[in-house]
Amino acid sequence: MRKNIVAGNWKMNLNHAEGLQLFAEILNLVNSDIKGNQEVVICPPFVHISSLAQLLKADSNVSVGAQNCHQADSGAYTGEISASMLKSSGATYVIIGHSERRAFFAEDDLVLAQKLDSVLKNELTPIFCIGETLEQRNAGTHFDVIESQLKEASFHLNDGQFRQLVLAYEPVWAIGTGLTATPEQAQEVHAFIRSKVSEHYGAELANDLTILYGGSCNPKNAADLFSQADIDGGLIGGASLKALDFIDIIKVFN
Ligand code: PGA
Repeated sequence: MRKNIVAGNWKMNLNHAEGLQLFAEILNLVNSDIKGNQEVVICPPFVHISSLAQLLKADSNVSVGAQNCHQADSGAYTGEISASMLKSSGATYVIIGHSERRAFFAEDDLVLAQKLDSVLKNELTPIFCIGETLEQRNAGTHFDVIESQLKEASFHLNDGQFRQLVLAYEPVWAIGTGLTATPEQAQEVHAFIRSKVSEHYGAELANDLTILYGGSCNPKNAADLFSQADIDGGLIGGASLKALDFIDIIKVFN
């Protein structure tokens, strides 16, 4: 059975005290609401990771992740953070290839492929994001764009490595805009992604793969999105900054 994941991407929000408070609220609310094959991942800014990870219970279904990492293990890369440092701070997930990293920090397929390698080498789970812009959707090229992002950055991985991935389909036009893909639009792309993975890695691996939807997901639309056959959870931005909204999204799987 595929794992259901609801991941919160806090982006560059919340100071340390605010982050600790929100995390404590989420932990309090979540414990009784989480089912066996479900996982909750909180991705705060780097500087909060270690404090949040220390609050985790040993056998918890809640994990802490990062929003990015550098592709090198260590070295003269002023201002950067490596996957091994994240691991040593208690993170177990890392978001790779978020559209804001691609757009504002010029991250291309080549660097994302290297980041995936580094995250996997350090035995962390990548949440690898792909998705088209509004122009690409309007031009009808979204399937080509998504296939190319998938192939160029991740199809060099061997079966064992690819099996560790969580994918996230995030249409850029739906991120932070209040515009959500309809459940049918999202399902269509999720099924397409799974079919491409199946062509390359086989049906069994594709069927086991967790594929999240992200883009203005909220307590009102989460149930319709998550009920689609190929949508296994969400990557939540804005709505992950409010404990009650985030919990309502998690509860969709109950
Ligand atoms: P949003 O962000 O939920 O605020 O649209 C999602 C994301 O960027 O991961």
